[in-house]
Amino acid sequence: MPVPKRKRSRARRDSRFANKGLKPAAIAACAQCQAPLATHQVCSSCGFYKGRKVMTTKLDRALKRKETQKTSAQKSKPEAGSGEAGQE
Ligand SMILES: [Zn+2]
Repeated sequence: MPVPKRKRSRARRDSRFANKGLKPAAIAACAQCQAPLATHQVCSSCGFYKGRKVMTTKLDRALKRKETQKTSAQKSKPEAGSGEAGQE
């Protein structure tokens, strides 16, 4: 019958119980978009905290970028037209 070679030290034995008091993390749902969320934290998907927008999200920035690209494209169109006229 196999037998442990050495006695397990108190530190090694007691470290087994070190994580006994840990509890699973509390997870709530965002009131704005229902995304899973740690409690007392800003929602990373919609940027809301306590019903108020407090943070710009990746999606917000993407939408703004698209809008600016649209406006710049509209501005550049007449310039391109004038450029063609100049070539003719
Ligand atoms: Zn949210």
